[in-house]
Amino acid sequence: MRIERIDVFQVDLPYSGGVYRLSGGREYRGFDATVVRVRTEDGIEGWGESTPFGSTFVAAHALGVRSGIAEIAPKLLGLDPRRVDRINDAMDAALVGHEHAKSALDVACWDVFGKSVGLPVCELLGGRTGVAMPVISSIPMGGPDEMRELVARHRALGYLGHSIKIGGEPAEDAERIAASLADRERGEFFLVDANGGMTVESALRMVRLLPPGLDVVLESPCATWRESLALRRRTDVPIVFDELAIDTASVVQAIADDAVEGIGIKISKNGGLTRGRRLRDLCAAAGYAVSVQETTGSDIAFAAIVHLAQTVPERYLRCVLECRDMVSLTTADGSFDVVGGRVVAPDAPGLGVAPRQDVLGDPVAAYH
Ligand SMILES: [Mg+2]
Repeated sequence: MRIERIDVFQVDLPYSGGVYRLSGGREYRGFDATVVRVRTEDGIEGWGESTPFGSTFVAAHALGVRSGIAEIAPKLLGLDPRRVDRINDAMDAALVGHEHAKSALDVACWDVFGKSVGLPVCELLGGRTGVAMPVISSIPMGGPDEMRELVARHRALGYLGHSIKIGGEPAEDAERIAASLADRERGEFFLVDANGGMTVESALRMVRLLPPGLDVVLESPCATWRESLALRRRTDVPIVFDELAIDTASVVQAIADDAVEGIGIKISKNGGLTRGRRLRDLCAAAGYAVSVQETTGSDIAFAAIVHLAQTVPERYLRCVLECRDMVSLTTADGSFDVVGGRVVAPDAPGLGVAPRQDVLGDPVAAYH
C-alpha cells in the first residue's frame, strides 16, 4: 500500500463562547484548523486535523502547520502509511521539530491503517480498555461568579472534570478557584490551569490564599522548567505539566526530575498518535495521571483524542478534553456522543469519522 495523494484543507473554527481568555492577557475568538486527507493508490482515505490554540499558546501556529506540511508531504508520497514509525522517520528526515505539522499527517495514516484492516484505531494502538472516559470542560478565565456559572452549566451537561483557567494575580485567582469549586459535587475533579502565567512568588501566595482543604491539581503554573521545580519544592499541591511536556524527551526529564504527578498529552503538540502512544506508555510506567487532549480542534481532532485515550489504563486516565465544546462548527460526523459526561471510542474502522466536504471546501494545497 502506498500514499498517492495528500490534500490539505483550511477551516476557520469560531470559538463557541465568544472570547476565550488566558493568563497574560491572551484572547482567542476562533481557531485556524488544518485538515489533511491522505489517499492511497487503492483508494483508501485517511483524515487528520491539527488546530493550534492561536499562535500564543505553545510554539505552534496555523500557517506553520501548512508550511510544515508543504515541506513534509512530498516526501511521504509512495510510502506505506501503515508503517507509522517509518512515516515518522520520513517526516523527521524532511523537517526537524514542528510536531504540530506532522500530527495531522500521522493521524491520517492511522486512519488509513485502521480502514485497511477493518479495525478502529484504538484497537491498533493496543486495544480498547472498555472504560467510559470522563470528559473535561475548559473554563476560560473570567470573574469568579462567571466561572462558577460556567462550571454549573457544564455540570448540568454531565461533565465530571473542569479545567479552570487562572491568570496570575494571587488574590483574584484564589477567588476564581474558590468560586469554581463552591458547588462541587461528589466525583468531580478540578484542574487549575495557569498556562504558565504565574511566577513562583505569585503561585506560592495564591496557594496560601486558597480556602483550606480544596482538592485541586495545579496545571502548568509557571512558564519555565526551573520555576516549576522551585515551586514544587515549596508546596505540596499536586502539579501537572501541559505546555512544558512537549515531547518524549521532556516527559523523560519530568520523570527524572520528579517534577509532576502527571501530564496533558495534547496530540498535535507531540506530533500525533505514534508519539502519543509512546508518551502514554512512558506515563503509565512512571505512574503518571494523563489527560488526553488537543490544543483545540473540531470533530477529527476529537476522534484522535478518543482513540488514544481509550487505550490508557483506567488507573492512569484523568480525562479527555471535549474540544468540540470549544468550537461552533462541525467538520465531520461520527459516533462520539458524550453520554452522562463520558465517551467511548466508536467501533467503525479507522478513526470512525465522515468529514463534511461542504464544510471543508476545496483543498488549499495538494501533493501527488
Ligand atoms: Mg493546560
